[in-house]
Amino acid sequence: MSEKFTGIAASNGIGIAKAYLLVEPDLSISYNKKISNVNEEVQRVNDALDASKSDLEKIKEKAIENLGAEDAAVFDAHIEILSDPELIAGIQKEINTKHINAESAVKDVTDMYIATFEAMTDNAYMQERAADIRDITKRINAHLLGIELPSPALIDEEVVVVAHDLTPSDTAQLDPKFVKGIVTDLGGRTAHAAILARSLEIPAIVGSKIATSKIKQDQLVVIDGTNGNVIVTPTKEEVDDYTTQLKKYADQKIEQAKLKNADSISKDGVKFVVGANIGSPKDMEAVLNNGAEGIGLYRTEFLFLDSDHLPTEEEQFQAYKTVLEKMGNKVTTVRTMDIGGDKQLSYWKLPQEENPFLGYRAIRISLKQTDIFKTQLRALLRASIYGNLWIMFPMIATLPEFRAAKKIYDEVYQELQNENIHVSSQIKVGIMIEVPAAAVLADQFAKEVDFFSIGTNDLIQYTMAADRGNDSVSYLYQPYNPSILRLIKNVIDSAHKEGKFAAMCGEMAGDPIAVPILMGMGLDEFSMSASSILPTRSMMAHLSVNDMKKLAEDALNSETNEEVIKIVESKIN
Ligand code: PEP
Ligand code: MG
Repeated sequence: MSEKFTGIAASNGIGIAKAYLLVEPDLSISYNKKISNVNEEVQRVNDALDASKSDLEKIKEKAIENLGAEDAAVFDAHIEILSDPELIAGIQKEINTKHINAESAVKDVTDMYIATFEAMTDNAYMQERAADIRDITKRINAHLLGIELPSPALIDEEVVVVAHDLTPSDTAQLDPKFVKGIVTDLGGRTAHAAILARSLEIPAIVGSKIATSKIKQDQLVVIDGTNGNVIVTPTKEEVDDYTTQLKKYADQKIEQAKLKNADSISKDGVKFVVGANIGSPKDMEAVLNNGAEGIGLYRTEFLFLDSDHLPTEEEQFQAYKTVLEKMGNKVTTVRTMDIGGDKQLSYWKLPQEENPFLGYRAIRISLKQTDIFKTQLRALLRASIYGNLWIMFPMIATLPEFRAAKKIYDEVYQELQNENIHVSSQIKVGIMIEVPAAAVLADQFAKEVDFFSIGTNDLIQYTMAADRGNDSVSYLYQPYNPSILRLIKNVIDSAHKEGKFAAMCGEMAGDPIAVPILMGMGLDEFSMSASSILPTRSMMAHLSVNDMKKLAEDALNSETNEEVIKIVESKIN
């Protein structure tokens, strides 16, 4: 008998494969247990160290294949630590002198290293080593306890990954060749793990609450990322039915691929720009394959998240140059780093906060840590001559914040001029509208900025006061709530009144319910995960802006999210 449940549909497509449970096993140890055979215990440690090294060699090889040598280098550091004579001698000494079990000796010695490294608060590199040792200790312990640790990078057969929650870095390790789907207990549609799943084109369902308690390792699972349905141990009929749908979905994609080089144009001839959101130069293949007309959002913080140190000016310059060169004349909108919220760095610990989404993040950090901000702006301005660069600042709440950021930008521009470094004179500087305060005062901002890009992922969570990643309040995360639509309308109209460009780079820009309304409101650019570009272009070609204007008006005058969905569905289907 099959068992069914639902979650939040987070990445379209159908996945049929056996389950791979990515859950952290219980690694608790008997602490300070006395032992009688010291040699035997030392041997256990040596075996666990060898086995851990062999695991890491395999993970490293796989990571080189999936992510490239640069990202895989982190595993070299781990392997090196495992061979460190001082660490090994320290553990052996603990066993020999205290007559305690291997697990306790490993804990005592590694705890000491972690405490030493963590105390070096002014040295981000050494702090990162503490995270490395914590990771390695987990692996050694697992071997001592005879427990297998899940290793997402080592997945080499078709699976549906089942997890309690996924971090963005877990998700980035998944290879879409083998990972046919993702189901999690926690998370929301616009959490960054879900956004990454969409850019990797892996069907995903998040926030199911019960996936890890309902699904066992190796059980066959079907997931439908379009409507959030999960079937555990499906019947033959169900598998056949979903296999047919999978085929239909693939055929639809072939049909849409014909629009790759077409304009994004409505049935009555109004042209829009459909762009892509990216997190790293690695996403460029999907961007070009899906015919993006620009990059509407380059989330540069992933450069910081994928690194084990603050990226240098040169490292950033290379990344920005690669993207700009690949886009040529098409606009590349780069957002300055948006660290904080659910994007935390292991090597640069931000203060612990009660409400990180409402705390020290994004432009708030850049305006305080101006050295880091200036390094990023220098790298961006130096790269500007390789393409068509627009820059925007995230999480702007007030005009003085924008002015302060723009002042630093102007200073960096001048600095480069003084150094005779060539910088493009065509760069536009804009802001993301993701804080309701900025959306309300859009008319004032429009006089000073070059463009707006509406970040609905955050704008919705702040307007509705509902955490975008918290499934308990996901019913309040309402993209089509007329309050949100009116804010968006105000931003678009304010931009146009000043002859400025209005873009959107939140997930709503590629949402089939929102697209018709946004067309009617006159949004200029729709930027989204690369996989949504062709379906959106195809949808635009079937709709007339004239009709959508009326639809938008009805939506704006509605009372609820549900009413808006009904209006759109009745007019579109
Ligand atoms: C947004 O908030 O809509 C946005 C695009 O930024 P991010 O999802 O990275 O917070
Ligand atoms: Mg945001």
